[in-house]
This record gives sequence, structure tokens and C-alpha cells, in this order.
Amino acid sequence: METVHTIQWMKALAQDALVNERSLGLVPTMGALHEGHFSLVRAAKRKCSPVVVSIFVNPKQFGPSEDLKKYPRTFEADREALAGLGVDILFAPTSEEMYPAGFNTSVSVKGLSDRWEGRVRPGHFDGVATVVLKLFEIVQPRIAFFGRKDAQQARIIRQMATDLNLNTEIDLCPIVREPDGLALSSRNVYLSPDDRRAAVAISQALAACQGSISGGERDLANLLATMRAKLESEPRLTVDYAEIVDADSFEPVRVIRGNCYALIAAKVGGTRLIDNACIESESDAVRVLL
Ligand code: AMP
Repeated sequence: METVHTIQWMKALAQDALVNERSLGLVPTMGALHEGHFSLVRAAKRKCSPVVVSIFVNPKQFGPSEDLKKYPRTFEADREALAGLGVDILFAPTSEEMYPAGFNTSVSVKGLSDRWEGRVRPGHFDGVATVVLKLFEIVQPRIAFFGRKDAQQARIIRQMATDLNLNTEIDLCPIVREPDGLALSSRNVYLSPDDRRAAVAISQALAACQGSISGGERDLANLLATMRAKLESEPRLTVDYAEIVDADSFEPVRVIRGNCYALIAAKVGGTRLIDNACIESESDAVRVLL
């Protein structure tokens, strides 16, 4: 595995893949890698060669009071794990390389970026869209792999790719969870043992919603009540939002139709966690994917 720190060298390698008609896959990450990231790498390995993983803790997607400084950084362990998975190129630019003095452009996907995570974290999705567009331009991937864990982020990137006629296809991969259901996240290392026990209420709330739907419940108010009751039963949780939204518009739905997401964001101790379940419905059949 080659480790690349400069944009110029990464572009040269990407150009080489293009000229040789190879199908380059990109997995963008902020490092502190876990099985969720590795599942994206495996998906990329199945469909693409070469596979590039980027590690870049993007300052533009952190708010002034967020955890940029203390965000977990485990570069050497990440590099070893990626080499073991057969990744071809690790692209790890510095902040100065990505945002040199005078950098003055921001990409903004209107509407979709203002809701849910965007409302709680103003400017977050502009930072994400800007860095992802830069990564796509530098790496020129045929396919880029994202996790459904960040469903709104993936939807925004898809919109950007459509609107700007990008040559990159967006592949959405399932959520990887701990055995008790907690979605893997680099931020889980912040959780104290008590927080960790409490955090499982988030996935349990989604599982309760799944259980209600399997039992035939379709009334939206009842589904939301089930989900919220589970969250409220855990006193260590502070819920930012718990909603069921249309998978395309991310607007709250009135009835379960087409594809929806049950979205939850909550704070446990000082740690903000997000999770979701995908609700797929076709006529009377409804399937919930955790
Ligand atoms: P991050 O390093 O947190 O920016 O995440 C990089 C990519 O990994 C994003 O596409 C995330 O959605 C994805 N990801 C993070 N956690 C998980 C998980 N538990 N399961 C699947 N994908 C994940």
C-alpha cells in the first residue's frame, strides 16, 4: 500500500488509473477506523481496483464548539489495518495541503443541508460537500463508498453528484453495529462505561420501531411514540431529534410510503450520537433495516 500526502502525487496516480481504464474506488474517512469503515473498504475491494482510502479530519465540517482538537487520531493503527485489507493507496493530506492560504470556496447543497444534522450543526454539510468534491476531483473515483450510518450526508453527496454531473457513482453501505446494537462510530471511544450502557437505547428505540412495524403498526404517531418512549426511558440521553422522514426529501412523513428513514440524534454525556433505520415499503409489505 502506498501512502500519499500530496494532492499532486495523488492526482498523478489517479490519472494513471484512468488512462489504464481501471475502476478506481474511494472510501473517504476521518480515520480512527473501525469495522464500519472496514466494511466500506471490503465493498470497494469487491467492485473496484485500485482502492483508495482517504484519511482527513476535515476542519471545515466541525463547528467552533465541536471536537476537532480531541477527535480521535490513530494513524499508524489505521495504516496497518488498511494495508492488511489490501488497500492500494492511502491518501492522507494535511489541512494546509487541502486548504492553503487564500482558499475561499464552499459547496452548499441547499434545502437538504438545512435539516436535522444541518440545523443542529450549522455549516457542517457545506464543509462535508466541499471536502468531498475536492476529494472526488483529486482522486477521480468511478465509485465512492459511504455508510448509511450518515444517511443525510450520503443523500446530500448524491444530490451534489447529480447536480454537478460528477462522474462518480455513490454506493451506500449498511450500518455495522456492536453485538448489542450500538452503531459503530469513531466517537464511541468518548463514552464512559455508564454512557456506553445508556447509548444502546438509541438502537433499541429503532428496534422497537422495527418491532412495531413487523407487528403490523402503520400509524405514524404510534411509531414515533414507541421510538420516543424508549429514548425517554434512558435518563442519560438528551434527544436532539427522533423522526421518520422521506428518504429522498428528508421531510417528515405523514404516512409510511416508499422509502423512509427513522432518524435519531441524541447526546449521551458530552457525546453526540446519530443512528437510523431504513424503512422500505412497497404496497403492503414493509421492511425495516437496522
Ligand atoms: P467518518 O470517518 O466518521 O467520517 O466516516 C467515514 C465513512 O464511514 C462514512 O461514509 C460513514 O457513514 C461510514 N461509517 C461510519 N460508521 C459506520 C458504521 N457503523 N457502519 C457503516 N459505515 C459507517
